[in-house]
Amino acid sequence: MKFNTKTIHAGQKPEETSGAVMPPIFQTSTYAQEAPNKHKGYDYARVGNPTRTALEQMIAGLEGADEAACFSSGVAAMDALMKMLRPGDHVVTTNDLYGGSYRLFTKVFEPYGIDFTFVDMTDIGKVESAITDQTKLMWIETPTNPLLRVVDIKALSDLAKENDILTVVDNTFASPYLQRPLELGADAVLHSATKYLAGHSDVIHGAVASSNKEIMENLRFQTKTSGAVPGPMDCYLTLRGIKTLSVRVQRSVENAKQIAEFLDNHPKVGSVNYPGLPSHPQHELASRQMDDFGAMLSFTLKDDSIEAAVNFMSNTEIFTLAESLGGVESLISHPASMTHGSIPKEVREKAGLQDSLIRISVGIEDAEDLIADLDQAF
Ligand SMILES: *Cc1c(COP(=O)(O)O)cnc(C)c1O
Repeated sequence: MKFNTKTIHAGQKPEETSGAVMPPIFQTSTYAQEAPNKHKGYDYARVGNPTRTALEQMIAGLEGADEAACFSSGVAAMDALMKMLRPGDHVVTTNDLYGGSYRLFTKVFEPYGIDFTFVDMTDIGKVESAITDQTKLMWIETPTNPLLRVVDIKALSDLAKENDILTVVDNTFASPYLQRPLELGADAVLHSATKYLAGHSDVIHGAVASSNKEIMENLRFQTKTSGAVPGPMDCYLTLRGIKTLSVRVQRSVENAKQIAEFLDNHPKVGSVNYPGLPSHPQHELASRQMDDFGAMLSFTLKDDSIEAAVNFMSNTEIFTLAESLGGVESLISHPASMTHGSIPKEVREKAGLQDSLIRISVGIEDAEDLIADLDQAF
């Protein structure tokens, strides 16, 4: 099956009792058993739910994995994955990381004795020299947030394998429509399904897909034991969103390309971060690794101040000032004071995150309207 067909059919079959094309929302906490432990595959809804199963099979199909596990949020999925580690274990990850991931790593797992090294992962030499005998996990995010750098998944997965290290890729920004990390050698893929997968800014949801038995067994154990599971309604909404993933992302990418070009030629813009621009430092890698360049971009103003950025953002009318991304509507945000507010200023600046940096998530509106809105905001 090719990708667009998968978004409709992967792992899906009509519901048995009625033939319903979409899986019902199985709003139940428990399941009748014929005799103790004799049941139809479900005993308690923390452990499993048929609506969740339908979604898990879909996400596994999209990422080319044997299995997927769903969680109540992207960070809950991350939390469950990280619990595979033990005190003394070491993780190498990017210095241009989603703010919530940075907070989870440094405020929750570091105090429990897990060590992290944050490096510029576009430089393989830096990743290599960060590896120690204790390194158990390489945590990749690409394209990165909010600088849209592109990290070489295949090269890093190869390096990780040589050193017996597991690789996880946070694939939230690209979505499986544009990038499938397991095909490039990663061991697991993580999604904030809140973003492109669900796609309508109406649900918080997370997922991990993998063909690695040990990882999946651990995740099943975590859903059962720590219990950060999604409700059936949220699973239904996410599955419904996935059905239009291809058409939504494709339109958003077409819009993003036009906006990137417009910004790149604007006299008030300092620099534009978009992998689709030939001037992007990893443009060639992005062309190889991704099927297209995505619908996220960021840019700085020539007047590089928080005030200038805030002023610009309060002038937009179609772009909504909000955190999050990947929905049908275009959003605009200010990383230094919003998503990355939990990262100290010195750390932010070291990672190249300037005060005037503005991030936009391009939606599926008409590009002409989006460009006109940005134009009047300057
Ligand atoms: C939003 C996001 C997360 C966290 O997901 P939630 O669903 O908000 O918990 C993780 N990684 C990236 C790249 C994100 O954008």
